[in-house]
Amino acid sequence: MSQTPRPVADINSYHAHVYYDPASTRGQAETLRAQAAERFRVRLGRWHDVGIGPHDKAMFQIAFQTEVFPILVPWLMLNHGDLSILIHPNTDNARKDHLGHALWIGDRLPVHGAVLPESAEIGLEMEPNTKPSLRP
Ligand code: ZN
Repeated sequence: MSQTPRPVADINSYHAHVYYDPASTRGQAETLRAQAAERFRVRLGRWHDVGIGPHDKAMFQIAFQTEVFPILVPWLMLNHGDLSILIHPNTDNARKDHLGHALWIGDRLPVHGAVLPESAEIGLEMEPNTKPSLRP
């Protein structure tokens, strides 16, 4: 059985979801967010102090273009501390993106993929809202 592999060009962008515990690791998440903003052209999402959508725990999102992946993801590997981070591509199937195509930095957490459509996630806002001034 052979299947034509999907081309990497199917990936429009990425999300990194940075999970934290509001009681114990929000400070770490605040530091990571501020340091990332100083170093990368990304779009930082708002704070969610309770789980939302497929996300089981409090988190914020970092949305980024494909060319940012090879510097941002290694930087997150080195600097995530006690935080769990879900990194997923954005293609035409949000459920598969989160459940089948994702990678984790730190401990893996539950993802409630059933709430996601088997189509592109709607409202993907990608315009960067950071003004980095430091090298990663
Ligand atoms: Zn996402």
